[in-house]
Amino acid sequence: MLDFELTEEQQLLQQTVREWAAREIAPRIKELDRQHCFDRDRVLGGMAELGLLGISVPQAYGGAGMDYICLGLASEELEYVDTSLRVIMSVHAGLNCLTLLTWGSEAQKQAYLVPQARGEKIAGYGLTEPGAGSDVRALQATAVKRDGHYVLNGEKSWISLADVADHFLVVAWTDLEKKKNRDTSGLSAFIVERTRRGFSSGPMKEKWGILAGDTGWFKLDDVEVPEENLVGRPGEGFKIAMFALDQGRYTVASGATGLIRACRDASVKYALERRTFGVEIGQHQLVKEMIAQMESDYQASRLLWMRAGWLKNQGRRNTRETGLAKWFSTVASERAAADAVQIHRANGYSDEYPVGRFFRNCKGAVIYEGTREIHKLMQADYLLGYRTDRPTRCELPPYRTN
Ligand SMILES: Cc1cc2nc3c(=O)[nH]c(=O)nc-3n(C[C@H](O)[C@H](O)[C@H](O)COP(=O)(O)OP(=O)(O)OC[C@H]3O[C@@H](n4cnc5c(N)ncnc54)[C@H](O)[C@@H]3O)c2cc1C
Repeated sequence: MLDFELTEEQQLLQQTVREWAAREIAPRIKELDRQHCFDRDRVLGGMAELGLLGISVPQAYGGAGMDYICLGLASEELEYVDTSLRVIMSVHAGLNCLTLLTWGSEAQKQAYLVPQARGEKIAGYGLTEPGAGSDVRALQATAVKRDGHYVLNGEKSWISLADVADHFLVVAWTDLEKKKNRDTSGLSAFIVERTRRGFSSGPMKEKWGILAGDTGWFKLDDVEVPEENLVGRPGEGFKIAMFALDQGRYTVASGATGLIRACRDASVKYALERRTFGVEIGQHQLVKEMIAQMESDYQASRLLWMRAGWLKNQGRRNTRETGLAKWFSTVASERAAADAVQIHRANGYSDEYPVGRFFRNCKGAVIYEGTREIHKLMQADYLLGYRTDRPTRCELPPYRTN
């Protein structure tokens, strides 16, 4: 039976995250954003205390054991306040933890997933390089096997939490012949710890959005990791990277939905305050049109990410549905943020109101985890029969608490 009601646990989670973000982050976010400051202790400490960093990881692995709808709800509530908060859910909880849960060995789960889910360690995801984003085959990073170790070399750029995370999921070529032929079955995935010799990181200095978040690069100069750090089997790196994106995109979709709601609420408030031509601007039909569009975009985005979350709870493949949710909601969030600035007039063009920050923040999500163009092509390819999702060796486990 179709059921649109949230369970008691889901409602409680939603309320708890909403109150925490409103109390702890909202009053400070303007200053944090202005100062380009990632408030590590308050943000990560608070999220760990709420159990958000292991939200959908089973309790047996140190997580909160909540379902995937809770992961979406948390992402929506966090991005309602600021995108930088939701990014943590995307890379740590989504791209990394759920990938280790699905593809990691038992030893890897004990060594890495458990402390990550408890919030004792923070995790990132390193796919993109200066010369390779959408075109994963253009990656240059390599991992060469030598004396029972893999030696990694390469540079990853535009990496969320690059200066913060303790562990990274890194994709690199283990088969150099296949690298030459751009055959993705030559890629493998590794856990790389920041403490490894030869690891260095730094910030993306000229970034103009998600300023309260950490985004940077890291370099691997002859970084040795033991064979046990290989995730999955040699040659499964591409599949693992794409699997991870199914989880990250889900949080990006639900987060963008929260951003649309934030734009809607700010716009409704402002439209009732500002007057022109003797009436509130909310009385003008063209302003109503922008606000109505925000509402329809919010509701449609929410239904799309919830359907993807429902599929995840059932343990069913959701690459197509998650991709659609991510594409639709991020494009809609761009529209909502642009219109929110418009409604706020010149004030929207300053940091006095939050909508300018929403406008800067929304753009990242239209680029990362599959650009707008890549998602558009994917949806067309599904319909045209050029693309199908073949089963992979490991699939996201259906929702279970333990
Ligand atoms: C704030 C932020 C955080 C990020 N965090 C991470 C992270 O944690 N980990 C990580 O690995 N990466 C991260 N990224 C990187 C992000 O995933 C990439 O920027 C993204 O995948 C796009 O790749 P690219 O920048 O190389 O663009 P390109 O792939 O070079 O694309 C350039 C343009 O060409 C278009 N294009 C490319 N190929 C095609 C095609 N075949 N058909 C039509 N159009 C095409 C694209 O849509 C885009 O408009 C982050 C990026 C940002 C902005």
